[in-house]
Amino acid sequence: MPAARYCPQCGAPLATRTIHTRERAVCAFCGYVHYVNPIVAAGTLVHQDDCILLVKRGIPPGQGEWALPSGYAEVGETPEEAALRETLEETGLQVAIERLLVAEAFYDGDSPGGVIILYAAHAVGGRLVPRDDALEARFFRPDEIPDQIAFRQHRRAIALWQAQPGQDGARRVPLVGVPLGTNLRREAVIPAYLRALTGAGAAYHLIQPTDDAHELRVAYAQSSGLLLTGGGDVDPELYGERNEGRSVSLDPERDRAELTLTRWALQEGKPILAICRGIQLLNIAAGGTLYQDISTDIKDALDHRGEPKRAIEELAHPVQITQPSRLARAMGLSPHDEGDEANTAAVNSSHHQAIKEVAPGWIVTARAPDGVIEAIEPPPAAAGWVIGVQWHPERLYAKHTPSRDLFIAFIEASQQWAP
Ligand code: MN
Repeated sequence: MPAARYCPQCGAPLATRTIHTRERAVCAFCGYVHYVNPIVAAGTLVHQDDCILLVKRGIPPGQGEWALPSGYAEVGETPEEAALRETLEETGLQVAIERLLVAEAFYDGDSPGGVIILYAAHAVGGRLVPRDDALEARFFRPDEIPDQIAFRQHRRAIALWQAQPGQDGARRVPLVGVPLGTNLRREAVIPAYLRALTGAGAAYHLIQPTDDAHELRVAYAQSSGLLLTGGGDVDPELYGERNEGRSVSLDPERDRAELTLTRWALQEGKPILAICRGIQLLNIAAGGTLYQDISTDIKDALDHRGEPKRAIEELAHPVQITQPSRLARAMGLSPHDEGDEANTAAVNSSHHQAIKEVAPGWIVTARAPDGVIEAIEPPPAAAGWVIGVQWHPERLYAKHTPSRDLFIAFIEASQQWAP
């Protein structure tokens, strides 16, 4: 809620009232309603001779870290004007905007606090001198760009710029397509997936669900790989079962769009990393089925659901990994390691459904001790790097080497993918 306590019009105390389903501060005396709107921030990715301009931030947030020149727009400014002004203030350079790179919410804790808009630009005048909020400002070659960039949205802009095909038509970094649910607030921006992608060196774009096959095909064609993320349950009718209430948070539009994208990718051999709901959808796309609820359908099953009792970042149970498999290779397990110990990994768990019948010809590459299927992939002869995992490697990315290696293997496969 807003920090304002007194009416800016008449000075009387503000009271809280529900207006149009939201709590708002209202002046009981003159009726003024105090609306608080999200902040707009804007900045530029200035490039020159294959190098990009970064500033070392002198103020929080991200103090001491490198970032793109950026700041808050002021009243009376367009985002483009704010981006130009901030760039001039922080670097001394006058720049010209070329195109939009990123328009995305930024967060204040768990709640969106504003929108950041970042543009590709090039210098047209001025002299490079760090000023204002910047301690340093200089151009970085692609191999010098720091891993640690102050803001994820800035990191995304850099990756998107690097994902542009060069003069030889090759991309320097792959562009991963991330299909979304129809509920944007819930599904669009679970940042852990996006952090893992940018951390592993990829750019991403978000794919809105649509029944327009042409629109979907365009988004598919731009993607070097697909990341199928977690979310609500897939409609059981899609694998020939009825929903008697055990499948929840259905999103039929998302199901249709993701199944279409996944089948295209399987046909063409485009890389897929499928996580949680993703592995379930992948299995259905290839002809398999699901248990609609582990705790009712599987006797003596472990607690796979986790939350609220166990945080999603916590390791929950081991999985036994099949050798040889694409998964074992991707997670850095050697085929020469002998014994169960060597092919076991501890993973997290946050799911209430699981694979029942594996898609025809596909192989199970990991199981929990209770027999629950935790990973699948197509037979080795099938083209393409495709892995489904039931756990959440994106939530373990920072501290769990096998999870990080899995993302890196996916990004390498996406980088190498060619039709
Ligand atoms: Mn599990």
